Amino acid sequence: MPQVADKIKDHARLFNEPEYQELFERKKAFECGASDEVVAKQSDYINSWEYREKNLARQALTVNPAKACQPLGAMFASVGFEKTLAFNHGSQGCTAYFRSHLARHFKEPCAAVSTSMTEDAAVFGGLNNLIDGLQNAYTVYKPKVIAVSTTCIAEVIGDDLTAFIQNARTKEAIPQDFPVVKANTPSFVGSHINGYDALIKGVFTCFWEGKERGEVTPRVNIIPGFDGYAVGNNRELKRIFAEFGIDAAIISDVSDQFDTPTDGKYRMFDGGTTYQQVEEAINASATISMQKYCTEKTLDFVKEKGQPVHAFHYPIGIKGTDDLLMTLSEITGKPIPESLEMERGRLVDAMADSSNWLHGKTYSIFGDPDFVYGMAQFIMELGGEPVHLLATNGGKEWEAEMKALLATSPYGAKGQVWPGKDLWAMRSLLATEPCDFLIGSSYGKYLEKDLGIPLIRLTFPIFDRHHHHRFPTWGYQGGLRVLVTILDKILDELDRETMKTGISFDLVR
Ligand code: SF4
Repeated sequence: MPQVADKIKDHARLFNEPEYQELFERKKAFECGASDEVVAKQSDYINSWEYREKNLARQALTVNPAKACQPLGAMFASVGFEKTLAFNHGSQGCTAYFRSHLARHFKEPCAAVSTSMTEDAAVFGGLNNLIDGLQNAYTVYKPKVIAVSTTCIAEVIGDDLTAFIQNARTKEAIPQDFPVVKANTPSFVGSHINGYDALIKGVFTCFWEGKERGEVTPRVNIIPGFDGYAVGNNRELKRIFAEFGIDAAIISDVSDQFDTPTDGKYRMFDGGTTYQQVEEAINASATISMQKYCTEKTLDFVKEKGQPVHAFHYPIGIKGTDDLLMTLSEITGKPIPESLEMERGRLVDAMADSSNWLHGKTYSIFGDPDFVYGMAQFIMELGGEPVHLLATNGGKEWEAEMKALLATSPYGAKGQVWPGKDLWAMRSLLATEPCDFLIGSSYGKYLEKDLGIPLIRLTFPIFDRHHHHRFPTWGYQGGLRVLVTILDKILDELDRETMKTGISFDLVR
């Protein structure tokens, strides 16, 4: 066998050994697959315009959507509050999926519990599971708050969270005054961004219950939204607040929870927004959402309390950051600090230094609606041209906003907006109208393999690269990081190409 104890080969190399290759061939023969000619013919067909039309007309089936289900967003939002236990009312498998999804991206564990519903609960209801689950979770993990969200099964059978939680109090599974946040997160509608929204609204509803807005305090609430770069971005936001001298509270701050140090101490809960901050948030000057589509219901709720709200689309680059800083300045009455103006100038300088490599490159982008918007805006600032812009969880409003954005620049002329489409649709789009680069999550690597369009990983989830989330993408500093990520890919590809010919394989680019 090729595997020996003193030199262990990883699977990528091991399975290339002749023994395994032979095994794969035998497996192929056993499976009676189609001949290479038939496969090649079918491959050509799925790259055709004829197939593209059929693929885009498809409605009854989704293949590889660029989104996840609602409870994932709720779990992400839950762990951004101090000592808060994410509690999933549903089957264990769902909870395992959410935890592993987050752990694979952040390379950190994500503590969460489940009511472990099985067949009997699906038939008779999950009341007993919820009561036992709350009692166990409260007793064993001693959280400050439990944040309950639901999965498909609990929603399909119509479990009543409010009544069930009250039942748990009556039966003394948890104390009468123990705070339980709840969010209904049916997975058969919406996506993780709606789950995020539902949970944040649930937190405000729970802690602002019976309260009205009092005397306004000069403080700003910032809701980051579902963000795979939250560790770097939230810390960057705090640095910007410090430069400004602004008192701001990040509502759901996961930056410490997903970046716990190895120092010999186990932290099941780390950092997070304090509940004192949540309670005080009602009197803040304003609430700012960094991602409009992640916070629609929450912002409506905040507005109903009489508090001004502002919403952005994942601010990356010059205009995105300009708008954010000017809004902060307007709300607080503080001027934009000179140090941040210097950072802006440095980003503009870096963009100008590299413009000869950036100008005219074409990109397709997929991901959450706000991310696609912010990224497309920055691409146009860099002299790049967006081609296909796709958000499986984007709707008509997003489509209209995207089109309006593309119309603001001549670089937007090639842009086509695809709300509600999946990555199998993106495959047809790229096969028929290719572009230079694809920007999105790790799931884009199969498109890269199929179509040879290099993937730039810049959103959630990133499973096959490490530690990207530690660096910000927001603010001018974040813009610099995004710029370098894009440039590195452009120059790597150029080197790869010129390596083949030997012509213009230069040291200085
Ligand atoms: S879609 Fe439903 S069953 Fe699947 S992981 Fe989400 S909640 Fe669970």
